[in-house]
Amino acid sequence: MQVYEAPLRDMRFVIHELHQDDGFGDLEALEEFSPDLVDAVLEEAAKVAQEVLLPLNRSGDIEGCTLENGVVRTPKGFKEAYDMFREGGWCALASDPEWGGQGLPEAVNKMTEEMICSTNLSFSLYPGLTHGGTTAIEAYASDELKQFYLPKMVSGEWSGTMCLTEPHCGTDLGMLRTKAVPQADGSYKLSGAKIFISAGDHDLTENIVHLVLARLPDAPAGVKGISLFLVPKYLPKEDGTPGPSNGVSVAAIEHKMGLKASATCQLNFDDSTGWLVGKPNKGMEAMFKMMNTERVSVGVQGLGVGEAAYQSAVYYARERLQGRSLSGVKNPNGPADPIIVHPDVRRMLMTMRAYNEGCRALGGWVSRALDAEKHATDPAVKQNAEDFIALMTPVVKALFTDLGHESANLAVQVYGGHGYIAESGVEQYARDARIAMIYEGTNGIQALDLVGRKMPAHMGRYLRSFFHPVSSFVEAHKADEQFGPMIAGLEKAFGALQLSTGTIAQKGMKDPEEAGAAATDYLRLMGLVAMAYCFAKSALIARDRLGEGTEEAGFYKAKLATAQFYFDRILPQATAAFLAIKAGKASMMALDDAAF
Ligand SMILES: Cc1cc2nc3c(=O)[nH]c(=O)nc-3n(C[C@H](O)[C@H](O)[C@H](O)COP(=O)(O)OP(=O)(O)OC[C@H]3O[C@@H](n4cnc5c(N)ncnc54)[C@H](O)[C@@H]3O)c2cc1C
Repeated sequence: MQVYEAPLRDMRFVIHELHQDDGFGDLEALEEFSPDLVDAVLEEAAKVAQEVLLPLNRSGDIEGCTLENGVVRTPKGFKEAYDMFREGGWCALASDPEWGGQGLPEAVNKMTEEMICSTNLSFSLYPGLTHGGTTAIEAYASDELKQFYLPKMVSGEWSGTMCLTEPHCGTDLGMLRTKAVPQADGSYKLSGAKIFISAGDHDLTENIVHLVLARLPDAPAGVKGISLFLVPKYLPKEDGTPGPSNGVSVAAIEHKMGLKASATCQLNFDDSTGWLVGKPNKGMEAMFKMMNTERVSVGVQGLGVGEAAYQSAVYYARERLQGRSLSGVKNPNGPADPIIVHPDVRRMLMTMRAYNEGCRALGGWVSRALDAEKHATDPAVKQNAEDFIALMTPVVKALFTDLGHESANLAVQVYGGHGYIAESGVEQYARDARIAMIYEGTNGIQALDLVGRKMPAHMGRYLRSFFHPVSSFVEAHKADEQFGPMIAGLEKAFGALQLSTGTIAQKGMKDPEEAGAAATDYLRLMGLVAMAYCFAKSALIARDRLGEGTEEAGFYKAKLATAQFYFDRILPQATAAFLAIKAGKASMMALDDAAF
C-alpha cells in the first residue's frame, strides 16, 4: 500500500540544525525567510503532496499517457492537479522574483521536490523540467527571449523540455544530427527527430517551450559544433498568447517500464522556428546550466522514491503477521508476530531509513551551497560554494538514485510475494525509480565526470571544498569520549577516499582506462564519506539536545540509533569500494570482446 507522510521533522532538522556551521554563513538575501515561514511552506507542500498528488500516483501508473490525434493526454486528474499546483505558486518556489518567482531558499525548494517525488514521480517531471529550462534561459538567452518566455515559464503557465537525445545518440551527443538553418530575421529553422523527450507533449499547459540541441550548417563536427535553440510548440503572438503551430509533432509516446504518467515522446521538428540561446556552437555550455540543475533534482527523485518506499515498507512490516520473534513472542493474542520483529526485516528497514536520512542531510548541505552560490556577497564564499556544487552534483545524482532504487527494491522484499503483485503499490516504486539512474547522464557517466573533470579541476580545488570541512571536523572531535569510535570510522573511510584520490590521479594520468575502471567505486566511496560526515554531525547535535532535556527525545534518540546503524552496517561498504579501486582495471579488461 502506498502510504506517505512527509518527514517534516527530519527536514526541519536538516534545514535549521545540521548545517549552521558549514562555512557558507548567513545569507542576507534570505533573511526574510524566517524559520517559521520556512516551516509553514513545508507544511503546505506536504498537504499538496499527500492530498493532491499521492491519490493520483497509482491511477496515473495504471492509466498512463495516451496519444490521441497527435496530442498527448495525461491521466485523469493530472490537469486539475497541475492547475492547483500552479495556482498555488508551487512552480515558482525558488525562481528569481524578477521573473515572478518567490526566491525561497533552495533547501525549501529541494525538500518540496522530495515530497512531490515521493508522492508522484511522474508528475514531478512536468514542473521540474520547466524550472530547469528557466535556469538556462535566464543565464544564456537574449533579454528579449527572457522577457517573453521567463514569466510564463516561471509561473508554470507554459512548460519546458530538454531535447538532446536522438535515435543514434544518447550519451555521445557529438553525433547529433538535428539541423538549424539561419533565417534573414535572425531566427532559425530546425529540422530533425528527437526521442525520449520527457513532457514532450501534454495537455497541462497552453504552450510548451522546447530547448533543442542542433547543428548550424557550418558547425564543426562533434560536441564543439552543437548550439542550443528555444523552440515553442506554438509560436506566440505579439500579445503573448499562443499562435500558430510551429511544426513540432509527436510521432509516438514511448511504452516504458515505469514513470507511466510522464509523457516520454518521440518528437519531430519540421522547419520549426527557433531562436539561439547562448553563442553559436556553444550549446553544450548553455545546456549544462539546465543539466546541472536537473542532475541535483534527479538525485532528489531517488531520495523521494526511497522515502516513499521506506514508509510503505514500515506500514506493511507492522501489519503483516508471520512467524514468531526469536527473542520470544511479541503478539501473544495473534496467530503470529508482525514481521517488524525479525532482524532481517529490521536490516532492510534500517538500511532504507539510513539511506534516506543520509541523502537528505547531504542534499541539505548542497542546497546551502546553491543558495550561497546565488546570494553570498563574499567572493571567497561564493567560489567555495561553486566548487562544492561542481564536485557534489554527480555524487548527488548517482548516489541518491542508486540508493533510492535499492530502497524501492528492499521495500518489494519486505512485502515478500505481495510486493511483486501490482496491488501492493511498491513494485511501482521499483519501476519508477529505475529511470533516475539512467537519464540526465547515466550514473556511470556521472562517475566519469567526477574522476575525469571534477577531481583534477584547478589542481584539486573542488575536492578541497569537501575535504577541508571533513578533516577539520575529524580533528575537532576525534577525542570525543562517547563518539570517538564513530569519528574514527569516519577518519578511516576519509583516509581511504584520500588514498583512492591519489591512486586514481596517478594511475589515470598514465592510463585513462584505470580512472574509468575506478570511477563508479570512487563516487560511491565519496558519497559514503559525505553521508558519514553528516551522520556524525547529526549524532553530536542529537546528544546536545538530549543533554538539554529536549521535549523531542524520541526524534533525537532515533537519529542517534540511525547514525549508529549507518556506521555499523553501511559505512563498511567504503572498505569494499577502496579495495575495488585498488585492484585496478586488470581483471575488468582481461577478456577479449569476443570472449563475452
Ligand atoms: C523515460 C526516459 C526519459 C528521458 N527523458 C529525456 C529528456 O527529457 N530529454 C532527453 O534529451 N533525453 C531523455 N532521455 C534520454 C536519456 O537521457 C538517455 O537514455 C541517457 O542519456 C543514455 O543514453 P542512451 O539511452 O542512448 O544510452 P547509451 O548512451 O547508448 O549508453 C548505453 C550504456 O553505455 C554506457 N556508456 C555510453 N558511453 C559511455 C562512455 N563513454 N563511457 C562509459 N560508459 C558509457 C552508458 O553509461 C550506458 O550504461 C530519457 C530517457 C528515458 C528512458
